[in-house]
Amino acid sequence: MIRFDNVTKVYGRDTVALERVNLEIGEGEFAFLVGASGSGKSTVVRLILKETEPSAGAVYVGGTRLSSIPRRKIPQHRRNIGCVFQDFKLLPNKTAAENVAYAMEVTGQRRRSIRAKVPQILELVGLSEKRDRYPEELSGGEQQRVSIARAFVSQPPILIADEPTGNLDPDTSVSLMQLLERINRIGTTVLVATHDRDMVNEMRRRVIALDRGRIVRDEVKGAYAGEV
Ligand code: ADP
Repeated sequence: MIRFDNVTKVYGRDTVALERVNLEIGEGEFAFLVGASGSGKSTVVRLILKETEPSAGAVYVGGTRLSSIPRRKIPQHRRNIGCVFQDFKLLPNKTAAENVAYAMEVTGQRRRSIRAKVPQILELVGLSEKRDRYPEELSGGEQQRVSIARAFVSQPPILIADEPTGNLDPDTSVSLMQLLERINRIGTTVLVATHDRDMVNEMRRRVIALDRGRIVRDEVKGAYAGEV
């Protein structure tokens, strides 16, 4: 589903963000991408989204080599990838339901399918009762659920979360991860970039560890760091 073939990314003249990274995440997998700040996690995410290009090597998503996708087809590529961010990025003047609906409207989906889909997805994330609340009337964990609903409403084959629990307390983080697991069980490939060590240890899922742009560990049911 996602493949990095000897990928090197150099920013500017000499900032090596990734160095000869080989990586394969299969369809329906759940993987954590961990590492200290500056280790290259966001660069991996940006390459998958084709927000930036590798300096050497190739990135494949769903079997397509991203360098072969013309500029006009990039939006289509990105629609295959739901994204969840640390800071939620919700529209403050729209309710939970409207935030989710808006994500469908901008991709030109029919009103009828939006009306049918939004309640289903709010139910999946456990927010049916709070559908008419504005972001400021929701807790951080609830806001993150809305942003997961929004990322997943069109059922993209891949969901990427970049530090999704960065602003949340530990209990809320665990229940959010359980939600991402549920989305994974439906068949979605899920990649979570994080440095939330406790949460990664608790989940016992595949852990890909980056250190200064290199993959230093890749374990099927790992802990954050073999207590280095
Ligand atoms: P992480 O997400 O793990 O914090 P990043 O992928 O953001 O790591 O960064 C990896 C390295 O690349 C860091 O040294 C960072 O300073 C550098 N970097 C990231 N983005 C840019 C950019 N747009 N221009 C220059 N250097 C960058």
